[in-house]
Amino acid sequence: MPSFDPHHWPGPLSCRVTTSKLGITAMGMPQLLLWCCKGKQTYLVGLTGETLDQDSGETGLVRMQTVVIGGGIVGLTTAYHLAREGVQVTVLDARATGHGASDVNAGWIVPAEAAPVPGPGVVLTSMKWMLRPDSPLYIRPSLHPQFLSFLFGMWRASNARRQRAGFAGHLALAESTVETFDDYRADGMDFEMHSTGLLMAFTQRANLDHHLTHLDLVKKYGLEPTVLEGDDVRVHEPLLSDAVQGGLFFPKERHVDPGTLARALHRRLVDLGADLVEYAPLTAVERDGDRITAVRSHERTFSGDAYLLAAGAWTGPLSRQFGVPLPVRPGKGYSVDVEPLAMRSATNLSDAKVAVTPLTRNLRLAGTMEFGGLDEDINQVRVDAILRAPAIYFRDWQPPATPPKPSAGMRPMTPDGLPIMGRLGRLSNGFVSTGHGMLGVTLAPGSAAVMTELILHDTASPRMAPFTPRRFRSAR
Ligand SMILES: Cc1cc2nc3c(=O)[nH]c(=O)nc-3n(C[C@H](O)[C@H](O)[C@H](O)COP(=O)(O)OP(=O)(O)OC[C@H]3O[C@@H](n4cnc5c(N)ncnc54)[C@H](O)[C@@H]3O)c2cc1C
Repeated sequence: MPSFDPHHWPGPLSCRVTTSKLGITAMGMPQLLLWCCKGKQTYLVGLTGETLDQDSGETGLVRMQTVVIGGGIVGLTTAYHLAREGVQVTVLDARATGHGASDVNAGWIVPAEAAPVPGPGVVLTSMKWMLRPDSPLYIRPSLHPQFLSFLFGMWRASNARRQRAGFAGHLALAESTVETFDDYRADGMDFEMHSTGLLMAFTQRANLDHHLTHLDLVKKYGLEPTVLEGDDVRVHEPLLSDAVQGGLFFPKERHVDPGTLARALHRRLVDLGADLVEYAPLTAVERDGDRITAVRSHERTFSGDAYLLAAGAWTGPLSRQFGVPLPVRPGKGYSVDVEPLAMRSATNLSDAKVAVTPLTRNLRLAGTMEFGGLDEDINQVRVDAILRAPAIYFRDWQPPATPPKPSAGMRPMTPDGLPIMGRLGRLSNGFVSTGHGMLGVTLAPGSAAVMTELILHDTASPRMAPFTPRRFRSAR
């Protein structure tokens, strides 16, 4: 039962009822509980007038409580949006918040790059790449039925029509991402963010031509790309070598130092009174029929009115504990930080599939995708492939004098390359937000906004439709 908070009394009850359930009062009597919305606050109301709090003996209103499982970028942003609405939030993480993919990533906020991974020819290309241990996309062979079913789903989604539809879905979800990051800063979060755009650089003309076919879509979302043919790309970015045949520049894209973003979210959540419980892996889920009553981390129990599963690549195995198995698999990538370079903007070495992010303290190189297990071990062959790419794209590139220390991150991948957001199966108070793949930073604010609407007001935004968990049979 949530604790009574007299400071959150909303005054006369002219609020909108969003959710209801039958509960037991402190005196052991059944009573109808309603979650109501007034202004930006959500309150839990006991209708019989029975006390909700054993110690104070008062009848009153309490704040809704939500337990978020996973303190990566998706869990933290959603927890923050909920806390801002007056919800009492508890975030559980198996280790410190904001580690793994949320720290290792390239920090790009790039709706223009939001095409889902499965696309025409992707499965065939990755089959060929299976023979090359340093390829940008590598699938570790396995005959496990879950893995084969994932590959089959990926193959089914690998066509131009579905990739374009997925891209449009991502663009709609990310439509106000940039403004939301500005709001975060305005709300006192201090993190490193750059508004210098994104350059996609191509050494292969065919690759540039392929990207030109999506330009109508990104223009529809106001992204205003500039096509840079031949030497125009070097006029734009003088550091590029003659191997680069052309580029696309997207002036509105941004990038952040992802570690600073996660830490800023953590700090702001603490300020808002959220409880961030680190080194507390979810180990069990307690249910009463279709209702989650508590989650446990070893001996500790955490209960709330709603539960959000947002554990990134770990969501696959964890979703089984909720009785709703979801096809989320890890797509491992690496990043290395080298000496800073005075580049004009974040740059995608598109053919090599390496992201280059100029940050204040360093230049971050990130890339490769490996479908395998949930380990964060480093494969140096793949890291070396990332380190080799800039020598092709940049003139006068100096490789690092001493080998930089690589970090690994697990992207939460789905067979169709789209996030999974919505209700968790038939659980009345269970929700999920995961599967953001290569786009967790870009899509986190939009995902947080729609999930907050769903959890608080039971309203599913039309922007969530492509991402419903119900597209998988196991989640119906
Ligand atoms: C190399 C690389 C580069 C990338 N570049 C970009 C980019 O430029 N732009 C972009 O938008 N995206 C990028 N991404 C993708 C992005 O990082 C991910 O999509 C994003 O981090 C996913 O966030 P998440 O919160 O879902 O998962 P995570 O960040 O993985 O967080 C999940 C959290 O759940 C916790 N957890 C695990 N098990 C449990 C448990 N049992 N109980 C409780 N908690 C648990 C973990 O400890 C972790 O903190 C990149 C990823 C990689 C690997």
